[in-house]
Amino acid sequence: MAKYDYDLFVIGAGSGGVRAARLAAMAGAKVLVAEEHRVGGTCVIRGCVPKKFMVYASEYAHHFKMAEGYGWTVGESSFDWPRFIAEKDKEIARLSGIYVRNLQNAGAELVHGRATLLDAHTVEVAGRGRVTADKILVAPGARPWMPVELPGIEHAITSNEAFHLEELPKRIVIAGGGYIALEFAGIFNGLGVETTLVHRGPNVLRGFDDDIRAHIAEEMDKRGIKVILGAQHAAIEKTDTGLVSRFTDGHHCESDVVMFALGRAPYVDGLGLEAAGVELDEDGAVRVDDYSRTNVENIWAVGDVTNRINLTPVAIREGHAFADTEFNNKPTTFDHDMVASAVFSQPPIGSVGLSEAEARHRLGKVDVYLARFRPMKYALTGYSERCLVKLVVEAATEKVVGCHVVGPDAPEIIQLAAVAMKMGVTKTQWDSTCAVHPTLAEELVTLREKYVPQGLGQAA
Ligand code: NDP
Repeated sequence: MAKYDYDLFVIGAGSGGVRAARLAAMAGAKVLVAEEHRVGGTCVIRGCVPKKFMVYASEYAHHFKMAEGYGWTVGESSFDWPRFIAEKDKEIARLSGIYVRNLQNAGAELVHGRATLLDAHTVEVAGRGRVTADKILVAPGARPWMPVELPGIEHAITSNEAFHLEELPKRIVIAGGGYIALEFAGIFNGLGVETTLVHRGPNVLRGFDDDIRAHIAEEMDKRGIKVILGAQHAAIEKTDTGLVSRFTDGHHCESDVVMFALGRAPYVDGLGLEAAGVELDEDGAVRVDDYSRTNVENIWAVGDVTNRINLTPVAIREGHAFADTEFNNKPTTFDHDMVASAVFSQPPIGSVGLSEAEARHRLGKVDVYLARFRPMKYALTGYSERCLVKLVVEAATEKVVGCHVVGPDAPEIIQLAAVAMKMGVTKTQWDSTCAVHPTLAEELVTLREKYVPQGLGQAA
């Protein structure tokens, strides 16, 4: 008789957990996956996928306006929020169903219920009871962090609720200057909601290249988003006419919805990690080694709960590497270097590698190539929106170490830039690639002049 009920117990049926469970089951392991909400995790249920549908929905207003420049007369347009939400939810349910089927087809069992570790091999699953497993994978993700001590915080929502608002607000205040804040600011602004974004820092998207940060703030402003920098909420008050956000700089602003997007915290509460002896780091994330193994020999963790790079494809690769290592006899680690990411702001951003500041700090002398221009698509529209493309090159080796794009299709463009950069492309090789014309992307292979920021002269 087997020593344990299962070979592998997976906590969380999100991107990382499902990939690992499927591969392990396909390799012949007896696998049980526990999920307390819906199968698919943040990405499918309340993140990347529904967010992108919302971005698509919101872009139509922009397209309608641009169409006039191309000779179209666009009649009265109106947007039906409940209809859109219903369509979006139908598709999310379909995708969640595919995840369930994929698990079942691979031979993994799924149980709906919250899992709590009792010790390193025993898990209590609500509605199912105790089960034992040889190996355990912790993949419960992260959830929005809220400043619970802020007066009136109970009136604010997070991105979780933004996907299911009963009606489209007329006015919204969004707190934060990261991925989620910028993406939802673009969505609501595009849908005609009076949108204010308030962020504590001197500019949005800390960690991104400074030229990108300045550029996106300017373009968001041009699109009509009110961006307040250097301030944050001091309180939220409910009045007869809405919610009043009081900011630390003394200003206030009334809206119908206040949304907080101040980062996400590893979802470790009540998991029983202490009972199993699993260590957390200073930010409350599960500490793991390169193979995603925790300090407990038979327990691993992947995805946002480990707070490495909190992106869906990274969680998938971490889960995949774990399954290959433990169930396919193929020791594999995932290389977290040169992971590209996109911010689906409007205009969107694609970025891979180092920012200019980071490159100077880490590598010393770097060369910068940069172009700002109006995309061809806007030439007939009267829009003044501009794109930005930027390359950061290590001077000593000529290697392209950073590529940053703001403009239409930037997320699509950056995927392939990442391929070349992962292979260690040099600027000479990059430039030897012939342009595809007429595209925005061709600007990346025609950057010949080194960029010297105005005011810095040749000394820079
Ligand atoms: P981010 O970490 O991107 O941004 C958090 C923002 O909140 C920052 O602007 C930060 O400011 C601010 N903030 C943090 N703490 C406070 C505080 N106490 N008071 C005021 N402001 C504060 O988090 P998000 O919630 O936007 O997204 C979480 C993660 O999910 C992202 O980092 C990303 O990894 C992932 N994600 C990826 C997406 C994509 O790939 N397109 C889309 C959405 C999310 P400061 O900079 O000053 O610290």
